[in-house]
Amino acid sequence: MPRAYPSRREFAGALLGAATAPLWTTLGCQTPPPRKLGFALVGLGNLSTNQLAPALQRTQYCRLAGIVTGTPAKAERWKAQYGIPDESVYDYATMGRMAQNPDIDVAYIVTPNGLHAEHTIAAARAGKHVLCEKPMEISPERCEAMIAECERAGRQLAIGYRCQFEPHHRECVRLAQEETFGPVRLVEAGFGFTIGNPNQWRLDRELAGGGPLMDVGVYALQTARMLTGEEPTLVTAVETKTDPVKFHSVEETLAFQLTFPSGVLASGLTTYNAQGPNDFTAFAERGSFGLASAYGYSTPQGRRSDGEALRFDATDQFAVEMDAFARCILDDRPTTVPGEEGLQDVRIMMAIYQAARTGSAVRIA
Ligand code: NAD
Repeated sequence: MPRAYPSRREFAGALLGAATAPLWTTLGCQTPPPRKLGFALVGLGNLSTNQLAPALQRTQYCRLAGIVTGTPAKAERWKAQYGIPDESVYDYATMGRMAQNPDIDVAYIVTPNGLHAEHTIAAARAGKHVLCEKPMEISPERCEAMIAECERAGRQLAIGYRCQFEPHHRECVRLAQEETFGPVRLVEAGFGFTIGNPNQWRLDRELAGGGPLMDVGVYALQTARMLTGEEPTLVTAVETKTDPVKFHSVEETLAFQLTFPSGVLASGLTTYNAQGPNDFTAFAERGSFGLASAYGYSTPQGRRSDGEALRFDATDQFAVEMDAFARCILDDRPTTVPGEEGLQDVRIMMAIYQAARTGSAVRIA
């Protein structure tokens, strides 16, 4: 499937080229932005509390302007901590009233996966741009509804693929696309962890859409698509389960293989019942490269088979991701991580589930 949006390579070059320059110059802009965009965080759970709110303080073009929460006590804490005015605090039933609040430009959707469409659509109808966390939603149909509603509203929709803004990941894309080690033939990627509390929404198919594949395996899938710059055409997969009680609603561990049109074979692993994997390797004709601790929030460790360094300064992936989206809105340019990108991953993940269920290879149109 051809890509209808700016190439990852162009964007990687811009981001990697000028590590010390202000982001607006690295993104090809001649003038600083006129103002910071107001972001409302929709859902004040772990990611919003521990990553996004602190990252917003480190952005150049964004500020925390509002919150949407179902918990009044949280609203009080956040108002005090971040100086959020009463009129910019909403719950899920009242978030449509953001339409009357010009201080909020962007709604960042950080609720469980199966609520992303409901909250994205409410935000778009209120006239807000939307940054939505991964995975985009739990079915292609819901993703399509999100894209359609944002289009109807004339607002941008971006998916929170932070690794697409992380310099080590971008450098690996450059090594693959410029064929520094010759053409890439194989990609091995995995992300998993041992999940705790058996009662959390991540283990409930209705809210999560699936298990580790939807939650963290999507990073391995993204790596395969980013490195190849292609879309897979054939998928096979195997699932194993050692704890059918805890994992009664979603998969526990999944291995999947993707075949790409150029002949690249990618192999992915994801689990909720082991510490790791968390890395990837690309094997090319004359060598290999990859990242360990690839998908966490801290700086990955890069490796190249020729011994050259693959190392960049630490990056706040969330701050860079939000700044990049803000600049696209301010400059009226399309995001490099649009809804179509999230939809494509959800389509592929559905094919992976089908392959695991049926034991047969699944072709992707
Ligand atoms: P969380 O459980 O900590 O927070 C979810 C929030 O949604 C909570 O504040 C909860 O109160 C609220 N919520 C609203 N309606 C709910 C309902 N019906 N059931 C349960 N909770 C409800 O989860 P999280 O870890 O913050 O994840 C939120 C989203 O962010 C998910 O889509 C997840 O995949 C994504 N995420 C992305 C990254 C990343 O690195 N990009 C990391 C973690 C999570």
